[in-house]
Amino acid sequence: MSALRLILADQLSESLASLQEIDKAHDVVMLCEVMEEASYVPHHPKKIAFLFSAMRHFAAELAACGVPVRYVKLDDVNNTGSFSGEVQRAIHELKSSTVVVTEPGEYRVLEMMKGWQKTLNIPVDILPDTRFLATHAEFAAWADGKKQLRMEFFYREMRKNYSILIENSGKPTGGDWNYDKDNRKPPKAGMKSPPRIRHKKSAITKDVLALVNERFSHHFGMLEPFHFAVTREQALMELDHFVTHLLPNFGDYQDAMVAGEPFLYHSLISSYLNAGLLLPLEICQKAEAAYRAGKAPLNAVEGFIRQILGWREYIRGIYWHFMPEYGERNMLNATRPLPKFYWGEPTHMFCVAEAVRHTRDHAYSHHIQRLMITGNFALLAGLDVKAVQKWYLAVYSDAYEWVEMPNTLGMALFGDGGVVASKPYAASGKYIHRMSNYCEQCRYDPDEMTGETACPFNALYWDFLVRHENIFRGNQRMPYVFSTWDKFAPEKQQAIRKQAALSLQKMAEGTL
Ligand SMILES: Cc1cc2nc3c(=O)[nH]c(=O)nc-3n(C[C@H](O)[C@H](O)[C@H](O)COP(=O)(O)OP(=O)(O)OC[C@H]3O[C@@H](n4cnc5c(N)ncnc54)[C@H](O)[C@@H]3O)c2cc1C
Ligand code: SF4
Repeated sequence: MSALRLILADQLSESLASLQEIDKAHDVVMLCEVMEEASYVPHHPKKIAFLFSAMRHFAAELAACGVPVRYVKLDDVNNTGSFSGEVQRAIHELKSSTVVVTEPGEYRVLEMMKGWQKTLNIPVDILPDTRFLATHAEFAAWADGKKQLRMEFFYREMRKNYSILIENSGKPTGGDWNYDKDNRKPPKAGMKSPPRIRHKKSAITKDVLALVNERFSHHFGMLEPFHFAVTREQALMELDHFVTHLLPNFGDYQDAMVAGEPFLYHSLISSYLNAGLLLPLEICQKAEAAYRAGKAPLNAVEGFIRQILGWREYIRGIYWHFMPEYGERNMLNATRPLPKFYWGEPTHMFCVAEAVRHTRDHAYSHHIQRLMITGNFALLAGLDVKAVQKWYLAVYSDAYEWVEMPNTLGMALFGDGGVVASKPYAASGKYIHRMSNYCEQCRYDPDEMTGETACPFNALYWDFLVRHENIFRGNQRMPYVFSTWDKFAPEKQQAIRKQAALSLQKMAEGTL
């Protein structure tokens, strides 16, 4: 028996199921850089460079431990350009008798792998991805029979299952499950991001950067400067840096947005965690240890742990529970084309331009920029849900369909009909004004509803709600919204809707 063990770009963990029980005398581990995966959406050059470099470092680490590794570079003349082509070529050349893989993060790839048994006429063993903290069966059991799948209740179960921030009495640490009431402050005047680690480029990274520059410079996004961690050791440095220097303020400024400051107190670990260089439980345990040692307050630590033990696992559960039908949902029939300012063309809306700038420069923008700026605009303007999802999948270095889709389609666009979000994350310019210093630098005014300088988010907000009144008027979580609208004089209502139509027209013309 000789197994071909295929490792994907987001499976760079020694603990991966398909890396256990290797027979070093007969098995071969394969990693391959394939054009099909690097270009099925126009991935940000930094994302491609991060993954190729991390893959090459991981392959070198395995080889140093005596594991036979077959590594196929993108510019290998024999590279067929697809996973299926590379698996076929490898089993032919190596005379493998079986293929072993760990379940991928995308439904599309899973279906492809399931097909190999038939098309390549070889047994294919697809192992569960044990790096996640909730199995598909556990999520399904939790979801079974529930009318609403609320993250908060799933999260409490996860806290108990893993004894994270749980006292010996079985009660949550501090007495409450959730400390968000103490979190989410607006930014302080003059707030700056604390310094970040800048990893030096290894020879491997330099080679990859040259390759990515040659092949993918037409994709949206700046390749350089490039300071990503590309090994587990470096990713652990990032985690330690965050826990020591940033975690104490994470909760307070989690939702704050500051011009020219893309990172603030966010951890920047999602790319490393999703690629497998970090593992979710070790992150939660380190954060909890910081609280127990008196180095970070409970509101920050609980809020951070909830993102990983709660949101991340829940989002993955939703994806696999509802796919493939989930991907076809478009509850609000949102079909307007994605405006060019998502790809860096100018817009007068400072908040949107700033979020897109951060995205272009860093392959990163933080959660509130993704949700309440680019996501909120897409929701209010009724942008095509598939085009918006494609954008999010392409432009962020942490993006894989299992996590991008429920966040975009479900959380940001309400396109899944309220599975992830119990009400739409729709907000006017007032919210953005409160949580950022963006409006000070904008040609639009967040306090104006109509007129040449009125913030487009304001009229679009009301227009969105009225367009979808049949869905949202009865929503229990939006009791005051429609009563406010009803109190507006008919002339005011008409003027708001006219203003929204004008903004949508300007958006289409590229002048918004
Ligand atoms: C429209 C939209 C699209 C998104 N697409 C992605 C994506 O493709 N990949 C991705 O990893 N996250 C995605 N997110 C979730 C979140 O925005 C990012 O995880 C976060 O911004 C990453 O930055 P960070 O590491 O500094 O996170 P922090 O703010 O420091 O949070 C800590 C960690 O919590 C986890 N986390 C937080 N929120 C979520 C969430 N909603 N879903 C899953 N994990 C979460 C991440 O692993 C993150 O690293 C998306 C959110 C929205 C609203
Ligand atoms: S005024 Fe409106 S468009 Fe301008 S930054 Fe503020 S919220 Fe954004």
